[in-house]
Amino acid sequence: MTQIEKQKIIEMQKQGLKYPTIAKLTGINIGTVKTYCRRHPVDAADTQPGTVAFCKECGKPVIVREKCKPRQFCSDACRMKWWNGHRDEVKHKTESRFICEFCGGAFTRPGKTRHRFCSKKCSAEARKKAAE
Ligand SMILES: [Zn+2]
Ligand SMILES: [Zn+2]
Repeated sequence: MTQIEKQKIIEMQKQGLKYPTIAKLTGINIGTVKTYCRRHPVDAADTQPGTVAFCKECGKPVIVREKCKPRQFCSDACRMKWWNGHRDEVKHKTESRFICEFCGGAFTRPGKTRHRFCSKKCSAEARKKAAE
């Protein structure tokens, strides 16, 4: 086991994870994990509630502490990679929903600019109506 792997096991133990979970997350043999954990018991006072999330880019486990905001990536590099690969989804997310002031239909437009009508037709009709 490498120093990093040992640290990971200790961290995960502190999160209250069970041996099979630790073994799965680290990819280390469960027997090795058990032996290591027994030899290096974690102080109960040291345990903190938390969960393990997985990096959305590379799938590496990321420890999420209660007080921290949820982490979705193990590193900034992965974050950048993910955003680069999901530009369309990100764009899609900045879409805003509106209700057409003329026909009452719901519609979406990219970006945050306010739109009052779902179509040119509705906007023309509304103008016509206002002029009447
Ligand atoms: Zn990652
Ligand atoms: Zn409309």
